[in-house]
Amino acid sequence: MQVSTPSTLPEYIALFSVSSVVKKPLFGGPQVASLPFLLQGLFVFGEGMILGRRYRHRLHVLADTMIGSLTMGETFRRLGLPVETANDSQAILACVSKIAGDAVRYYGRAPDTMFDFLLTALSPPDLDVRDVKRLEKLRSQSVPLDGVLYQGGSWFVAGVSVGAYLPDDAVDRLLHNVYGQPDPLWWAELHRSGCYVPDQETFSSELFEQMASSLLAVYAKEHHPELLQPLGIQQPEAEQHGLKREPEVASVPEATVVGFRMNRLFPLAGPVYCINCISDVAAEKSWTLKAGDDRMGVAPLVRFNQGVVRYLRVPMANQFSRDRSGDWPIDDVEWNADYDLALMVKLRIPLGLRVIPSLPEPEPKARCKVCKVNLVDVRGRALSPGSSYRS
Ligand SMILES: [Zn+2]
Repeated sequence: MQVSTPSTLPEYIALFSVSSVVKKPLFGGPQVASLPFLLQGLFVFGEGMILGRRYRHRLHVLADTMIGSLTMGETFRRLGLPVETANDSQAILACVSKIAGDAVRYYGRAPDTMFDFLLTALSPPDLDVRDVKRLEKLRSQSVPLDGVLYQGGSWFVAGVSVGAYLPDDAVDRLLHNVYGQPDPLWWAELHRSGCYVPDQETFSSELFEQMASSLLAVYAKEHHPELLQPLGIQQPEAEQHGLKREPEVASVPEATVVGFRMNRLFPLAGPVYCINCISDVAAEKSWTLKAGDDRMGVAPLVRFNQGVVRYLRVPMANQFSRDRSGDWPIDDVEWNADYDLALMVKLRIPLGLRVIPSLPEPEPKARCKVCKVNLVDVRGRALSPGSSYRS
């Protein structure tokens, strides 16, 4: 099995959310441990709500990002609809217009806690970790990646429905009250499980809102450039032709991989290879993917916006892996939130890694060990969601 580039937005967001926790076992396809997956489900649902609310008057455009994949057929089946729903944007719209109301009716009252609402009204009972016994059981279970895409996709679609059809203040209430008042014993058990529990502040932060925009922008650019304009996403070409308009969604900085650095034990920095020479090194070292993409022992060097080259170290920061002090694991005076976003949005899926930019200094003089080219001059390879998960 190979999970190729996800072609719809729900799959894209679901894959993005788990890309840093996907494991590739020795046998069988890629898997995600159930508990982290469930916690990432909050992220997927929350981003769905934000986009549903933002595009509530243009839902047909959003529906066009959900159309036509086999995975989405299965996703709609999990939402209680025929698989053919995935081929028809009117059917998708009808589905999106129904889920929120149905879920609230099932829930029996106005939802005010995101986790509780998600587990009660929008998830299969076997994922209900509010039961400590099930929580313990799920600690040792995994979900195959295609299952992650179906279930994650259905959470996203439900999020869009809730964002579009519930009043603004109801959506805000959910984003500002993710966990409610959980039973302390249960809560301690969840923390004991060892997986990262995203904090409440994340969901109500500006970054969380911005992340939804960036993911949508990157996705649309790659898969539906014709939707950029209807979605109100900034397009460089339009500016060139004097059609400049105020964009509703800012663009994400360009990020390209220009080379790799060999990992060495601190404090010796390893040699650098440009993206063109790395394939020879990869052949020499018998890496399975000849471009060094599997990164056994290498760390990618990334350039942002045709400017600074930065060294990234495995494992990568995801939006939930800030340490408990609340700091991002990035220590760089020139680093900024845009780079952060670009890193998260553009690197996670293609590299399938967790990356921490680890050197506080940018690397203006990094030269390839073989051809001596300065990495700033290397054309690089644009990062786009690729098929990093193979089995
Ligand atoms: Zn070179």
